[in-house]
Amino acid sequence: MNTDIMEILEKSHALLSGHFLLSSGKHSPNYVQCAKIFEYPKYGEKIGEELAKLIEKYKPDVIIGPAMGGIIISYVVGKTLGVRNMFSERENGIMKLRRGFSINAGEKIAVVEDVVTTGGSSKEVIELVKELGGEVVCVGSIIDRSGGKADFGVPFEYLISLNFPIYEPDSCPLCEKNIPVVKPGSRNKNTL
Ligand SMILES: [Zn+2]
Repeated sequence: MNTDIMEILEKSHALLSGHFLLSSGKHSPNYVQCAKIFEYPKYGEKIGEELAKLIEKYKPDVIIGPAMGGIIISYVVGKTLGVRNMFSERENGIMKLRRGFSINAGEKIAVVEDVVTTGGSSKEVIELVKELGGEVVCVGSIIDRSGGKADFGVPFEYLISLNFPIYEPDSCPLCEKNIPVVKPGSRNKNTL
């Protein structure tokens, strides 16, 4: 466990403990919202610098972060390594480089995200880069929530791996204790 990273997640309130209703309808005692890290630029920069240290050895020419979650972290990694940085986004469901962003054939690309759960967004960027003639040299993320299952066919670097318990609503021990369930992002922080 990387204690520095854990401390930043807690201090920035990116990592919450309590009783949460997930978008899947299931319940969990933990919730992570990576965007909160960047509410505090000093934490965002520290996190980006740490991730850049892991990515540096792959010598990328360009960092690409899939929107939204990858935008800020890829910027900080790109700034730290002194290389170009851009973001990809979906247009009609298809991952693309828009806004004049482009890569040159043969360029080495690092795909950088905030959280990898299934890794779907990164895989879409990997396919996009292949189509554009680039070479993805690694995937990086702040948090791995895949439990080691994410497989990109290239090295995967992350700062911390987090696995939270997930409960069905009808067999949730927190519900049994009558702890109010909270939708993450709601303003009802007093119940956290
Ligand atoms: Zn519950």
